[in-house]
Amino acid sequence: MTTTFDLESVRGDFPILEKSFRGKSLAYLDNAATSQKPNAVIDAIANHYRNSNANVHRGVYALAEGTESAYVHARKVIADHLAVSTEEIIFVRGTTEALNLVAQSYARTHLNEGDIVVLTTMEHHANILPWQLVKTQTGIEIEISPILEDGSLDRDALCALLDQPKVKLLSLCHVSNSLGTVNPVVEIVAEAKERGVVTVVDGAQSISHGPIDLREIDCDFFAFSGHKVFAPMGIGVLYGKRDLLADMPPYQGGGDMIDEVTFEKTTFAPPPQRFEAGTPNVEGAIGLGAAIEYIGNLDLAAAAAHEQALLEQATDGLEALPGLTIHGSAPGKAAVVSFTIDGIHPHDIATFLDAEGIAIRTGHHCCQPLMEHLGISATARASFAFYNSKEEVARLVEALKKTIACFQ
Ligand code: PLP
Repeated sequence: MTTTFDLESVRGDFPILEKSFRGKSLAYLDNAATSQKPNAVIDAIANHYRNSNANVHRGVYALAEGTESAYVHARKVIADHLAVSTEEIIFVRGTTEALNLVAQSYARTHLNEGDIVVLTTMEHHANILPWQLVKTQTGIEIEISPILEDGSLDRDALCALLDQPKVKLLSLCHVSNSLGTVNPVVEIVAEAKERGVVTVVDGAQSISHGPIDLREIDCDFFAFSGHKVFAPMGIGVLYGKRDLLADMPPYQGGGDMIDEVTFEKTTFAPPPQRFEAGTPNVEGAIGLGAAIEYIGNLDLAAAAAHEQALLEQATDGLEALPGLTIHGSAPGKAAVVSFTIDGIHPHDIATFLDAEGIAIRTGHHCCQPLMEHLGISATARASFAFYNSKEEVARLVEALKKTIACFQ
């Protein structure tokens, strides 16, 4: 186990970081969109296809047993990492599917017309649209908890919203993908619980930034995507509390999720199988297990401290640039810097940076209501992972200086 944070050694684990684009070495600063993959994950997937590929569930030959045990092991690694039990870990395609599962299976069957779901201004569309679909289907209401100027949640306003007896569910992001705000979910979940409100935490952006202890957070549901945490795309997890999952109907029907089927009537398997119809993304689950094992072997506190140092360096460097505004300055924010520059469209900023080998993202980041609240249509966003370096941040600042000079 690595006990201190050795950046060079960590960077060596991620082969793509050695690549060059446009004649410049890659500075990958788009980690909030997706993360790069370490050899441990790439090798686990290649090994699965080279040596052990078979379908899972019910295979009685040795090859299938190997796949089955790798799949079971992955679920156990993830459950242990989150401090929950394997029956509470449902494999899904990603955060989006996880939130849709909660909306369609839990909210659609447990909420009634007039009940209220509370979201926040900073939510990703993946945590807005599933509830809007339930609204159309059942007549629930959606209310929005506002944010303060620095991008943190207005906690008083949230409590006032939660005080309404019709509020039945609160769904909010742990970390905002656009602002970097880290919501104090332990306290917020406790406040919701006091009022009997079911809690859903969108962990898409928090899962890669430090240890997650779901026993401590104590939310009812937690969703994340593998690709944001150094694992493949097309795999993710919905955690749900055992009692709630047991009382939820299937989300989709098909193979591998039943107890007994006749043409007249079907009985379903218990969770998590009840929610995993069809052949699962076995390679994805194995890759996700490998990614979680990989980060489990890092000193996550040291990695988080390194990310915070990068954030501080980037913030200081960008704040000093003329006409540049950083959106989101909540205390303790994650390593995400969203910014605009007077007179330069965010897409032009990204194109200029691309010429320097620097990859950032621009647009509304699937947060159009937040952009509307900020009075802008898009931002440029640099987002850091523990494998980024001070040199890369310095290149970002220098390239932005050059970009601004070009437009003057
Ligand atoms: N929620 C947040 C906060 C996100 O940042 C994202 C992706 O950027 C999602 C949800 C959706 O994740 P996915 O597209 O992997 O399902």
